Formats: sequence, structure tokens, C-alpha cells
Amino acid sequence: MQINILALGGDGIGPEILEQGLRVTHALADRAGLNLNVTHNLLHGAAWEAHGTFCTEETLAQAKASDAVLVGAVGGPRWDNIRVPGGAERQDGLMYLRHHLQTYLGLRPARAWPSLMDHTPFRPGLADKADVLILREMCGGAMFATERGQRRVNGVRQGYDLTAYDESEIARFAHGGFQLAQKRRGRLVSCDKSNVMESYKLWREIVTEVSREYPDVAFQNMFADNCTYQLMRRPEDFDVVLCCNQLGDILSDLTAVYAGSLGMLPSACLAANPATGPVFGMYESTSGSAPDIAGRGIANPVGMILSVGMMFDHSFDRPDLAQALETAVSLTLSDNILPPDLGGATSSAAMTDAILERLAA
Ligand code: NAD
Ligand code: MN
Repeated sequence: MQINILALGGDGIGPEILEQGLRVTHALADRAGLNLNVTHNLLHGAAWEAHGTFCTEETLAQAKASDAVLVGAVGGPRWDNIRVPGGAERQDGLMYLRHHLQTYLGLRPARAWPSLMDHTPFRPGLADKADVLILREMCGGAMFATERGQRRVNGVRQGYDLTAYDESEIARFAHGGFQLAQKRRGRLVSCDKSNVMESYKLWREIVTEVSREYPDVAFQNMFADNCTYQLMRRPEDFDVVLCCNQLGDILSDLTAVYAGSLGMLPSACLAANPATGPVFGMYESTSGSAPDIAGRGIANPVGMILSVGMMFDHSFDRPDLAQALETAVSLTLSDNILPPDLGGATSSAAMTDAILERLAA
């Protein structure tokens, strides 16, 4: 069988970690007997420099024609304040793809690794078994506000982003969350600020309605500020956490602390519920382009590599290969082969070598 992947390095460390992710993709495809076809293109800053747009129509068409998209990371100070005509999706290459491909279901699994606990701020025993799936809605909310801008109100400058969610956006996302919880430990917390905001009142109403279809999932609504606190206070009590776009962005970086570094966190953005079979998705490390360490070959490739595992799980129906890869990563870390962000000195390429060796063994 042939699989078609679009590879978008993006900016900063993006191309560096993507290269490592592709090495692992080739190894897993060989193991699965899949014939791999990889197309490369530019995204965000790199695309801006070449074409004056953050994502070309060619790239979108290539994404639509592929089975999955692998993304490095995008952004950098050079492009963060450019404004182009059009909506939110026009201002960012990744958001352009998420919007047009409707990859609404963002999976950001954050777990503890026993051998890395000394690199976290947690005292022994508090977060050792943390294993949380942050679900981030990827196509709506404040970040995709259609009413946005800056204006003058009574002579004073005002910036605004109108947060809006409609019931269908919330419901499709919530169904994905409950069905993923059924395949995990059967617990789901939805977080919101429905005590003070209208969009979150609807959020809570719809999620609660959807929850009635999943009596086997232990469900709880929580205010987001308290949820943030509890995620650090008692990490092991959480399974799936359902978040809007903005809260999911923040909570996923927060829970990266369980693993000791943001560079450890994979992610998937899926265009459909994966509980019913293989789906199209974009797979990327959760972190940004880390301009502070770009160009030195030292970025932690593990988040990217685990994203490749998620791709085999959700888009190619090979959860066994994702599991084998996670085991290889775990063995590498427990052999004390660590990148600089975790106190070691191993380069991105040498980290990948070590993971591939253990995967082959
Ligand atoms: P960042 O996530 O790039 O970096 C935060 C910190 O984590 C930095 O100290 C960085 O060195 C470290 N880090 C991140 N990934 C790492 C890795 N793989 N290995 C080792 N260390 C790693 O966040 P930022 O600095 O706030 O943003 C930089 C740029 O990234 C901005 O332009 C921002 O817009 C963009 N951004 C992009 C994405 C994305 O592509 N999905 C997400 C967030 C931010
Ligand atoms: Mn983020």
C-alpha cells in the first residue's frame, strides 16, 4: 500500500526536527511494508520569504491530496507582527491549513517518564504516573475570531477578538473527546469559564448534553482556573481534558512540565473522530519554532518523533507501531541519552539514532 505524506518544515527548529521525524517515518513505513511517498513544501515564514503568503494554494492542494501532513513548527520574530488582508487564518500558515482542512480535534498527550522525574519540578511520587490527554479545539474560538482588530473607542485604542463557538463545533469536538476517553481510562473533565462568559455557558450546556450519550465515561465540568491548579496539584487524577482553542493551547504547554520539557510533547490535529477508523490528520510537535536554539542541531526531536507515532496510530491504523516507538523512546531516555533541554548533550540526530537503534532491536 502507498501512503502519501506532505512534509512542511516551517521555521526555526521546525525543519531540524522534521528531518528526524521523517527518518522515523521511513523506518516505521518499512516495518509496516508501506510504500512511502513524501512531498516537501514551505510553510509560514519560509513561505512568506519565497511567495509573500504564509501558505500557498499549492500547499493546501498538496495537503488535501495527502493521507497525512507532518509539520515542524512555524513562526519567528520576523513574521509575528505581519498583518495581511483577510481573516485569522490568513495571518498564520498552520491556522490556514487547520481552517481549510477542518482538523478540529487536537490531541496533545502529556505524560511523565519515570527516568525524567528529576528534570521536573514535581516532588517524587506526585506526578510519576501522570498521563493526561489535553484535547484542544483547533478551528474556532477567540483565535479564529471573525470580528477582530483594533479601533478607537472614545479616542482610546481598543484591541478586540470576538470569541464565538456554535453548537455544532462544540458537539463534534465533545463526541471526539468522549469516544477517546472510552478508549483510555474513561474519565473526562471539560474546562471553561461559564461562570463569567456567554460562549462558555453554551460550551458547558452542549458538552453536558453530549455527556449523556456516554454514561460509561466519568464526566465533570470544571472552571478553567481551578482545573489549571488541579492539573499541577494532583496530575495523576486526570485522564482526558476537553478545552477550547485558547485554553487548550495554554494547558498543553503547562502539562509539558510532566515530561520535563516542551520538546517532549507530540500533537495531532484530526479532521474526524479517530474512534471509528483511520482519519486524515496533521501531526506536529506541540512547541513553537524555538528561535533561541534554532540552527544548532540540538532541539529535542522526541515531540516530533512521537507525533509520527500518533500518525501511524490515527491515520494508518497501526497503534502497535506507535506503541513500539514509545517503548524505544522510553528505553533511550532511561539509558540516560538526553538532549540539552533535559540536561544532556545529545544532538537531535544522535537522539534519533539512539531511538531508531532501540526500535530495530
Ligand atoms: P517555543 O515553544 O518556540 O519555545 C518555548 C521554549 O521552549 C524555548 O525556550 C525553547 O527553546 C523551548 N523549546 C521548544 N521546543 C523545544 C525543543 N524541541 N527542544 C528544546 N527546547 C525546546 O515558544 P516561543 O519562544 O514563545 O515562540 C517562538 C515562535 O514559535 C513564535 O514565533 C511563535 O509564534 C511560534 N509558535 C509556533 C507554534 C507552532 O508552530 N505550532 C506554537 C507556538 C508558538
Ligand atoms: Mn502553543
